[in-house]
Amino acid sequence: MTCATCCSGDGPSVFLSNDNKSIYKSSVCNPHGSFPQMIVIPFFKHASQIVPNCHFYPKYKTVLALFVFYHNWVENFGDEGFIARKTLENVMIKWDINKKTSSKGYDIKGNRIKNHKIIGRVESDTIIWVWKGYDNKISESALMHELVHLTLRAKYGKHGDPDHEGHKYRGWEPKHTWMITQAKQMLRSLGL
Ligand SMILES: [Zn+2]
Repeated sequence: MTCATCCSGDGPSVFLSNDNKSIYKSSVCNPHGSFPQMIVIPFFKHASQIVPNCHFYPKYKTVLALFVFYHNWVENFGDEGFIARKTLENVMIKWDINKKTSSKGYDIKGNRIKNHKIIGRVESDTIIWVWKGYDNKISESALMHELVHLTLRAKYGKHGDPDHEGHKYRGWEPKHTWMITQAKQMLRSLGL
């Protein structure tokens, strides 16, 4: 059966069922517990986040950010085969209060860079590491950027297009860069 042109569509509503699992309510950050802690992200099946403390980030902020990402992705690229949806439903976001250093990588135009500070990284098919962001805001973090890499990885295979708009790897187009800007503006409108 196909659902390409009918019914429920593929906007953020696909995540909002009345199946409000009890784990969604019970999985909360415990400020007196040990860290890092793993918190289940509600409505995204198997999604979770690892937090360094209860400030980065409350799950309602993270889940809103995922909705914003999916909305923008679908608006720009559609979601044939629900690849983006499945990616979000399986993601594990590892928040960090510190940046990391990477020995090599690429800037957004595909130029090689070495020994630079990084603020996000894809670690596997389902895991992304993300620095908390400037001004302690998700909108000023690399979350949207890393989710693009992760979705491209699900779409085109292993690499996830590390050189962005460069031409060594395939997948990332200027439209993805633009989409991230739009998504971040929406996050700022939500105070995230
Ligand atoms: Zn990147």
